[in-house]
Amino acid sequence: MHCPFCRHADSRVIDSRTSDDGLSIRRRRQCPECGRRFSTTETASLTVIKRSGVVEPFSREKVMAGVRKACQGRPVTDADLALLAQQVEESVRATGVAQLEANDIGLAVLPHLRELDEVAYLRFASVYQAFDSLADFDSAIAELRDHPRAGRLPGDPAEAAPSISKE
Ligand SMILES: [Zn+2]
Repeated sequence: MHCPFCRHADSRVIDSRTSDDGLSIRRRRQCPECGRRFSTTETASLTVIKRSGVVEPFSREKVMAGVRKACQGRPVTDADLALLAQQVEESVRATGVAQLEANDIGLAVLPHLRELDEVAYLRFASVYQAFDSLADFDSAIAELRDHPRAGRLPGDPAEAAPSISKE
């Protein structure tokens, strides 16, 4: 790998460390020419097959853009969306697949979006789960009522986590 400082054509790995979740490897490298050190992160490539059949790299930005539409007018910040996109990437990587369909990403978004904002969740679910009647909304709302978010329970540790609870 080229040195990012002097563009020397080679570098030496001086340390490799697997991340705690086992999904990436971080390598410390040193340039034999200028002696400077830098790090690289190695992850399995993750690609998405769009409905059109086009294959493209997984993009957190695209996840954020898709969810942002469902969050219009809701108290959801860009930082919330960035965290959600990171959680979605981690959950799809954790399944071990290297290639997924655009629809799989939508489904992976749902549990995380539900924790963030229930109205945005319903909007998003109505598109990705192809709700086509009021009954679909009714059952999704009934499901939300029957299984409230963990963050709503008094004294639940999740309530203290700013990433999960908005209150
Ligand atoms: Zn160098």
